[in-house]
Amino acid sequence: MIYSLSEVTRSYQTRSGPVNAVAGLSFEVRKGERLALVGPSGAGKTTLFRLLNATLRPSGGILRFDGRDVASLAGRDLRAMRRRIGTIYQQHHLVPSLSALENTLCGRLGSWSLLHTIRSAIRPGRQEAEQAVATLESVGLADKRFARADELSGGQQQRLAIARVLMQDPDVILADEPFASLDPALTESIGSLLLNIAEKERRTLVVTLHDVEMALRYFPRLVALQDGRLAFDAPSAEVSPEALEALYSRYSSSSETASSEFEQPDGPNCSDPKFQRNCAR
Ligand code: ADP
Ligand code: MG
Repeated sequence: MIYSLSEVTRSYQTRSGPVNAVAGLSFEVRKGERLALVGPSGAGKTTLFRLLNATLRPSGGILRFDGRDVASLAGRDLRAMRRRIGTIYQQHHLVPSLSALENTLCGRLGSWSLLHTIRSAIRPGRQEAEQAVATLESVGLADKRFARADELSGGQQQRLAIARVLMQDPDVILADEPFASLDPALTESIGSLLLNIAEKERRTLVVTLHDVEMALRYFPRLVALQDGRLAFDAPSAEVSPEALEALYSRYSSSSETASSEFEQPDGPNCSDPKFQRNCAR
């Protein structure tokens, strides 16, 4: 098992008292599995997502990553865990002023030593540059490698965010609403890209989706949340229209939380000016 959750909870302190965003979740994810986390807005998908990439800690219960209790990890062990998890955020967190190639190279920052980072800031390793070009090729962006990230279209930025994660060579890819701002044609191509990449390299893929149609189409397993609890966990082929109707019928009144309200994840963060300097050559 890559993930094992046992009665995991996560609460937030708000002005009107504590909110249980995730309330007693238990499920497991096998290595190489592809699953979608679905549920209405406010169901706790992003919170669970951030528990899975260890940028949030559980308030209760036990979350194990590859057999180890995440709560017991700190310092080097925690960083090592995070390096094995590639996260694609809805907002991409690309560095707008850097080229596609430089943004892709940023995927490596987490695994570099300080010395290597300083050296790379002066001159990128040839092998790394070649690998970054190959990675850009795999997402169909080789011809855009010298374009600035802010000159790319929404779909191209999404593919660049995927390239950066691939450069990290993670065991697990987590993506939060990766299709939210894409038109249907792009959703199709990026959806297949993500799945092919996960399948080819046997990476575990966990994607949050509010759109259940998409989830059913692309993912063999659905884990559905409602008010922070497990509504159902089933193979897509076995999910009944009734279960889906029940999931979305009591549509939560709480609105989508902007990710800027969250604490910033640590680990490689290309929006950090320090990393921008290191990446910019
Ligand atoms: P989803 O991604 O499914 O829309 P979230 O995990 O963003 O759900 O939110 C789940 C619940 O937790 C919501 O009620 C939301 O308002 C609340 N919540 C999320 N983040 C915070 C936060 N930083 N502070 C307080 N409440 C939060
Ligand atoms: Mg969300």
